[in-house]
Amino acid sequence: MELRNMMYEGKAKKVFETDDPNVLVVDYKDDATAFNGLKKGTIVGKGVINNQMSNILMQGLEKRGVPTHFIKELSERQTAVKRVKILPLEVIIRNIAAGSFSKRYGVEEGKVFKQPTIEFSYKNDDLGDPLLNDDHAFALELCTKEELELVKKYAFMVNDYLKEVWKSCGITLVDFKIEFGKTADGTIVLADEISPDTCRLWDSKTNEKLDKDRFRRDLGGVEDAYTEVMKRLRASI
Ligand code: UDP
Repeated sequence: MELRNMMYEGKAKKVFETDDPNVLVVDYKDDATAFNGLKKGTIVGKGVINNQMSNILMQGLEKRGVPTHFIKELSERQTAVKRVKILPLEVIIRNIAAGSFSKRYGVEEGKVFKQPTIEFSYKNDDLGDPLLNDDHAFALELCTKEELELVKKYAFMVNDYLKEVWKSCGITLVDFKIEFGKTADGTIVLADEISPDTCRLWDSKTNEKLDKDRFRRDLGGVEDAYTEVMKRLRASI
């Protein structure tokens, strides 16, 4: 496969076109941002970890019946993926209260929910990714009813799978954000990444944070946490 022009450079990844119009190559960077880009930094080795971790998890999800954009890992930082149109929706599933949920609703971090919650935000940096409900998504014509039903179904399947995988690593899955895309033929697939950048992962025994909150909250040991999560994932598969 031949890389062509860079199509897009985001906060954590570059995306290249290839000689195949249906295939893109994602290149994971070590750059980290938080608070809608206000906080910037580098997490050394993050790009390699996030690339490899996402690929392992997406291949596991495919086996469970969740279609993903994954095609082939090309190198430590680069992966070939299906070209999709990203639905401008961030899909967040929570098992335990943390972050913006705790702040918004005044709930202590760590409160375990009786059942997982799902929420959506409008993927729009200028607006600060505002929270929205199903009807808002339809009013904004972000997706159809059928597409949203599928997105919800897949999101809970992703939660079931990830909870299980992380549990076997001695890690509690607190919450995560995923994104979906639409291929040329209209198929909805899981896209973007699944990594400590996009999941809250707490050590099951100590509740120590092993994710991007270490960067967001200046807790130190960010690289070590990412490396530890990857090490445990490799040992569990
Ligand atoms: N998240 C993300 N990207 C975002 C916002 C959130 O990956 O732009 C992830 C975040 O890492 C956490 C989950 O989604 O695992 C829920 O995040 P929350 O809404 O609590 O927002 P935050 O506290 O991170 O601002």
